[in-house]
Amino acid sequence: MKKENAFCEHTNRYYNNDQFPKKCTTCLCQFEDRSSFLASTSKLMKGSYSIGPQSSVLEYRNCKCGSTLTLKMFDERKYDEKSNKQREFFRQRIPKLIKKGYQESEAKDIVMKEWNELSDKEAA
Ligand SMILES: [Zn+2]
Repeated sequence: MKKENAFCEHTNRYYNNDQFPKKCTTCLCQFEDRSSFLASTSKLMKGSYSIGPQSSVLEYRNCKCGSTLTLKMFDERKYDEKSNKQREFFRQRIPKLIKKGYQESEAKDIVMKEWNELSDKEAA
């Protein structure tokens, strides 16, 4: 089946549509797509979103049975080639600098500078 991404108007994020049909593991009720998921579940009192790993957002909804269901939505930057490259660059460079004895915040600053220099070169 083709993997499709759809836009979430609440968070301005794309979410991964291949999570549907989604099933509640407690009451086994099944959601065919996100609109039926939203229609059959309710918001959490304390807020329904949190930032997940790798620029993703987790959407929490309460099932009718009381269980909390999670939908993982990816940031649209995930599909942008330049951002992918940048994240990969950071992912590789930062641990190397930390190994050399830099603090994480210092390492991030250094890698950001390196990245900007690289981007300038590519643009020139
Ligand atoms: Zn349920």
